[in-house]
Amino acid sequence: MKILIAEDDMTSRLVLGATLKKMGHQVTAASSGREAWDALNQEHFPLLISDWMMPDMDGLELCRRIRAAQGARYTYIILLTALSGKGSYLEGLDAGADDFITKPFDEDTLVARLRVAQRILALHETLRIQAMHDALTGLWNRAAIVENLTHELDRARRDARPLGVVLLDLDHFKSVNDTHGHGAGDAVLKEAAQRLKSSMRCYDKVGRYGGEEFLVVAPGCAQCENVLTLAERIRGSIAAEAVDIGEQMLAMSCSLGAAVSSTHVREDAAAIIERADAALYRAKEGGRNRTELAPETPMATISQ
Ligand SMILES: [Mg+2]
Repeated sequence: MKILIAEDDMTSRLVLGATLKKMGHQVTAASSGREAWDALNQEHFPLLISDWMMPDMDGLELCRRIRAAQGARYTYIILLTALSGKGSYLEGLDAGADDFITKPFDEDTLVARLRVAQRILALHETLRIQAMHDALTGLWNRAAIVENLTHELDRARRDARPLGVVLLDLDHFKSVNDTHGHGAGDAVLKEAAQRLKSSMRCYDKVGRYGGEEFLVVAPGCAQCENVLTLAERIRGSIAAEAVDIGEQMLAMSCSLGAAVSSTHVREDAAAIIERADAALYRAKEGGRNRTELAPETPMATISQ
């Protein structure tokens, strides 16, 4: 495990560092609270073992800053303390610490506390992953796929390489639910998700955007032709075979709106989704089971 140590006393720091390394952990050592805070801003550490008393920024202040920053991933904090008494533990807990080890520590205690930390961290990670996925289809959920799109748009802008976006909607899905029940609707959604995943390239991402709407983020699709090829492949795979809903086989198809991110206008996730959505609307109007490409963002909208 990656562990950050914050300890101003050199001897304690070296002893703790050596003990943790001996246990097979990857250790980064900081000699002050401030140095530890800087390290945490550079990279994620699942575990921080911090001294309480340090000159420039003490352990409590470090805890408070970490909890106030609320990164996407959890940092489990163990405070090292020579202090004892209920009051100070409570103060530590209120600041955001998860556990305490009294100095001088013995190895057994350290091993036991690390085991607890690992258990809690594994649980956090499971919950974090669950929170990003749609329970029915196993795809990314709306928040996660939109966040991915935002991230990819930033990267596309930095690298000056446009990005493809496809918004798709299953045709006549409402009638599946109305005619065959929600169980059949769920079976159709699950099958659609499987077919979507299998028609993606490894660097494309797909999420469930709404009820029967899915959003595909395709970083490799620099050109309109590429994004159209991808959209058509998805359309083909969705419509390829009827879906088994138990009592019968149901035909399935989808309509798609594709868009390529602009190279001359700063466009955010909402704006490109809106263009893809307008194209999707045209695909629906045009008879469904088809793909429409969004026109490029007009040059006229460039802000002066
Ligand atoms: Mg100290």
